[in-house]
Amino acid sequence: MCSIIGYLGLNQAAPIIVKGLKRMEYRGYDSVGVATFSNNQILVRKGVGKVIEVNKSVRLDELSGTVGIGHTRWATHGMVTDTNAHPHPSSTGEVAIVHNGIIQNHEELKKDLQQKGYAFKSQTDSEVIANLLQYHYDKSRNIKQSIVDTVADLKGDYAFVAVFEDGTLAAARFHEPLIIGIGKQGYFISSDVLGFVEHTDEVIYLDNMEFVIIGNSGIQIFDFNANPVQHQITKVSKEFADVYKGEYAHFTLKEISEQPTTILNSGNNTKLELDLATDFIRHAKSLYITGSGTSYNAALVAKFLFSKYAKIKIEPIISSEAHFSPDIFEQQSILIALSQSGESADVLEAANIAKKAGSKIISIVNIMTSSLAHLSSISIGLGCGPEIGVAATKSFTAQLATLYKIVDKISEGSLGLDLVKVSEAIKKSLSDDSKAKIQEIAKKLKDVSDIYVLGRGIHYPIASESSLKLKELTYIHAEGLPGGELKHGPLALMDSNTYVIMINPEDSTYSDTLTSAREIKARGAKIIGISDKPSDVYDHWIEIPKIEEVMYPLVEIIPIQLLAYYAAIEKDTDPDYPRNLAKSVTVK
Ligand code: GLU
Repeated sequence: MCSIIGYLGLNQAAPIIVKGLKRMEYRGYDSVGVATFSNNQILVRKGVGKVIEVNKSVRLDELSGTVGIGHTRWATHGMVTDTNAHPHPSSTGEVAIVHNGIIQNHEELKKDLQQKGYAFKSQTDSEVIANLLQYHYDKSRNIKQSIVDTVADLKGDYAFVAVFEDGTLAAARFHEPLIIGIGKQGYFISSDVLGFVEHTDEVIYLDNMEFVIIGNSGIQIFDFNANPVQHQITKVSKEFADVYKGEYAHFTLKEISEQPTTILNSGNNTKLELDLATDFIRHAKSLYITGSGTSYNAALVAKFLFSKYAKIKIEPIISSEAHFSPDIFEQQSILIALSQSGESADVLEAANIAKKAGSKIISIVNIMTSSLAHLSSISIGLGCGPEIGVAATKSFTAQLATLYKIVDKISEGSLGLDLVKVSEAIKKSLSDDSKAKIQEIAKKLKDVSDIYVLGRGIHYPIASESSLKLKELTYIHAEGLPGGELKHGPLALMDSNTYVIMINPEDSTYSDTLTSAREIKARGAKIIGISDKPSDVYDHWIEIPKIEEVMYPLVEIIPIQLLAYYAAIEKDTDPDYPRNLAKSVTVK
């Protein structure tokens, strides 16, 4: 969940590390810390808060030394405190580590190490890595051997970077990402290329169950059995460098605004794969689609598209639930796995379960070098560029556009997809007039405690996605409902303090949804209508352009993303980094 980074080179390490952490902050951001090796000792500074805040108070970037490690934490074990922030030094201080993931057997390991005389300061699971490395290093005084011994003892998913008392860096990965950057002025090791892409675009992707030792004489890579491993250096795409907010106040607004272009780009870099995928799907014995959060909402839209236009049944599975019904997958079935990062632990687990059962995986991912892309038979790229805002926006519409393309191909055009038309419609929703109107409505939501979002048919998944955006960005309780379900319970909750957003374009769902709106209105709730047609029932009307029914989902989500964004601004919450969340959910 978090980001880890290490640097060894010719320059002062701390400022490079702090800048890298700032860029990767979207991955986890409750605390931050840096350790450097300087004058034969390891120095550590850390604290609770965002990179900028902690840096201001403890001056992480002023640590001396040309070797160092850094971390932004997304706490899983132990409260968010200064002591629990990483890096964690071993009890004798000869090694310090930063860790991404969870060490499942940390309690046993800790007890055992305490009995052997190693002291612990934090409540984290991660500190055992530091003391375990120290314990094995004390025995062998050999860094390579101490890593081999340590990874043999650890259970759980992890990537860690360690700095040793002689200034050597070492890092190991087990089901969490680690990428080596090879620059002219030094080496980098990080969970994400964003951590160092401004210094070099030459990288080595460590494979699972590998570790690297980086010293002044270069890098050496080994597998967990200590066998040397050779890797090709790859060049990462320059688009990764495009991670500045530019004229926008927040990444979230920038990413919402990019959607007229990003939906057009979806899948374009992987056209061959897209064709191959449609062929696979046509011949599959059975078809499943999985994702978490926003990706699952995209999966729900896909269910509708596949059955209506391609006449193919596809079963959506919430990724974190796959573990509990593993028998669902069968030989010769296909699982379409959706994940922006391609590192989501839940989606990876679902894909691995399906693979074991003999299914083929088609992934739709933004990061083509991710673990999910690696384990898939076919991987289709979203091509929407880095998404930094924690709440998914452009990756959602890129996922939809990709799924639409697949269904359009399978159904030989019966879907009538016209993404250029969609792009024009999105542009209208992003006009200054439209934004100003949405901003006014957002002010009304500031003190609201509950919002319901209603949609029928293909609009229900969008209602669900809308409620997710509102929760993530505004911290207001929000619920997405199929319109018809209202009278089966939720109507009891409607009163004058409730806001209901009706997704109600003028299509086959229109009159039923309008009836629901009247039933809600009769109970005194306030109604925001998202529609191409005005109605007296709406207290506030957000106009969307008219378009064919099947394409509305791509258009109607835009004003709701904006509404959630502006409501976050009204509430003075940070839309880019919502509390308690992280972008790349690499833990279960
Ligand atoms: N499990 C570790 C902790 O709670 C690391 C969490 C992370 O990946 O940020 O400190």
